[in-house]
Amino acid sequence: MKKIRALLISALFLVSALILSGCSSEARESFFAMNTFMNFTVCGETPEAALEKTRETVTELEGLWSVTDSGSDIYRINHSAGQPVTIDERTAALISFALDMAEKTEGTLNPAIYPVLKAWGFTTGENRIPSPEELSALLPLTDYEQVQLSGCMVTLPEGMMLDFGAVAKGYTGDILTEQLKADGVSSALLDIGGNIQAVGTRPDGECWRIGLRDPFSDGILGTLQISDLAVVTSGNYERYFIGEDGNNYGHIIDPESGYPADNGLMSVTIIGKSGAYCDALSTALFVMGYDRAVRYWSEARDFEMIIVCADGSVALTEGAEKLFISEGEYEITVLK
Ligand code: AMP
Ligand code: MG
Repeated sequence: MKKIRALLISALFLVSALILSGCSSEARESFFAMNTFMNFTVCGETPEAALEKTRETVTELEGLWSVTDSGSDIYRINHSAGQPVTIDERTAALISFALDMAEKTEGTLNPAIYPVLKAWGFTTGENRIPSPEELSALLPLTDYEQVQLSGCMVTLPEGMMLDFGAVAKGYTGDILTEQLKADGVSSALLDIGGNIQAVGTRPDGECWRIGLRDPFSDGILGTLQISDLAVVTSGNYERYFIGEDGNNYGHIIDPESGYPADNGLMSVTIIGKSGAYCDALSTALFVMGYDRAVRYWSEARDFEMIIVCADGSVALTEGAEKLFISEGEYEITVLK
């Protein structure tokens, strides 16, 4: 463990600025979709057409996966009163992926957590603290093992509801990346509400550089130099409310208790090839807490991670250290 200086409470991140593009010909677009801000940069000979297509795809996927739009697949599933619902194959693939990740992460990622999120008001912004009785009555409705998926048909027991807020952005990043590559784009940077997906390198062959936000301030704690990688961060400081009791309540729920995860972590950043995988893991490992997250990584070893603890210290895997240029002064542990 290398102690650089305990002075700065600032630890790391949450992805924010991209910066330093250097495209020969580039098209950029910023817009609001899927309840978040998106910033896309596409480089190449004729980047506008490819960029427009990515935006169309986002609109299409949003139409399938919105929890509030009454025509969406997810809305129809959540209002199906126990009846089977026929869904688009992309929705079926998303559900299948999320259920698989729920299994792998022992339910710390739980795509059926929506009834509990609703009780906390995270779905409407009208936040409140549910009573312990209310939460224990809702927890049986979050048993993701009861979701039946067969081809493009899904059936949920009455009262259960799905929400893919923890994986849909990453999943969208993978779909857009594939689409851009199929359209011959070899250089692009997608910021999907803080989920970063780098397609190739910058046009000059250099890595894309992205800033990682300090969860204790608006500053940047360091820079990651990446190509063909996704970087996804989860943290309860991103969306939270202050309850009548004066405590902070964050939007990432520990499915075991029904309460916001509160285990000494500020943020978990996952770096890997697939945006969907990184997105699922960032949420799950945030719920797991430090020891369990480190154990999970040592067993899986197919992703890199950076964890910022509430005491301001930072732990990062060896692979992440190679990509990271630190700009702050904080206690760092390299995980091997
Ligand atoms: P992320 O920012 O990717 O960590 O996703 C957080 C979002 O996923 C929240 O705003 C909720 O919509 C939803 N969510 C909260 N807790 C969980 C959980 N344990 N498993 C799955 N989704 C969750
Ligand atoms: Mg996530």
